[in-house]
Amino acid sequence: MSTLATGRGHAVVTGGAGFVGSHLCQALLAHGYDVTCVDDYCTGSPHNVAQLADHPGFTFVAGDVAQGLDVDRHTDLVCHLASPASPADYLRLPLHTLDTGSAGTRNALELARRHGARFLLTSTSEVYGDPLEHPQSESYWGNVNPVGPRSVYDEAKRFAEALTTAEAEAADVDTAIVRLFNTYGPRMRPFDGRAVPTFIRQALAGRPLTVTGDGTQTRSLTYVDDTVEGILAMAWSDLSGPVNIGNDTELTMLELARMIIELTGSSSVIEFIERPTDDPMVRRPDLTLARGKLRWEPRTAPRDGLERTIAWFREHPEG
Ligand code: NAD
Repeated sequence: MSTLATGRGHAVVTGGAGFVGSHLCQALLAHGYDVTCVDDYCTGSPHNVAQLADHPGFTFVAGDVAQGLDVDRHTDLVCHLASPASPADYLRLPLHTLDTGSAGTRNALELARRHGARFLLTSTSEVYGDPLEHPQSESYWGNVNPVGPRSVYDEAKRFAEALTTAEAEAADVDTAIVRLFNTYGPRMRPFDGRAVPTFIRQALAGRPLTVTGDGTQTRSLTYVDDTVEGILAMAWSDLSGPVNIGNDTELTMLELARMIIELTGSSSVIEFIERPTDDPMVRRPDLTLARGKLRWEPRTAPRDGLERTIAWFREHPEG
């Protein structure tokens, strides 16, 4: 474990006002870091970091990282999370998504280079596309449609991984890549289009749960606290990755919908709607690397994480 693990450094978190980013800022502060959160609020919200505003170690900087990223204060760790992440968001913001994955990643890498900081990129299981290997290990190159509607996100992340790898070689930046699998938990937006908040919102309102296709497609859902612990384990390691961070309990979308109906006690029915183009049929991480090299593994079973998330949505129906 590196000296970063002892905390009391300064971390920059791009996309820190988003869902995962806000939990990461909170965890870094709890570990003794000072945190500068940089966000343009394109998909994030001031509400997500409102509870951190009074923390003496927390600074918020408004800005689009694709336009530039300048933080004067000496920085030990740059966590680059900025990027629209839900299909509804990146389909609405296609060019911004590509700019953030390309120029934004370049600027975040440059910040890390200037400060001699460790750089961590949150890539995604979407780099595997509609996978022809199952489960997906880091050595699998993926099956991505470069001109399909999802390509603005998938290819931006693939490019960001390539840029990170090149910069590590060319400019000697200490880099780390994690590939996050579908993460859920408190602070997701009810209308962000992802399955968990959509189903919970629908179940709590007593409306039909809209399952796409025949519901046999699978996802492996990771509770946000586990994802954040995985990100920190990677930041504190000396690995460059990529390393999968996810939960290897695989659920069909139909199983997920039924579980949410049961856990909410809802009388909602299930309605089948059209499946989006290029929607992956299966998703499950091979966690051999994470377990073996990072000594990290997910700890939250889907039922437990969903119960906590449902409780949060009951208290925050507007997100
Ligand atoms: P999110 O949309 O809630 O958060 C992204 C944040 O980045 C938002 O606050 C947004 O305003 C900010 N942002 C976007 N472009 C920006 C820019 N150019 N400049 C500054 N800020 C910008 O999404 P999330 O689910 O929290 O995802 C966070 C990261 O984790 C993303 O990089 C995403 O690709 C990755 N990831 C998430 C998941 C998941 O299931 N949540 C899965 C795989 C990968």
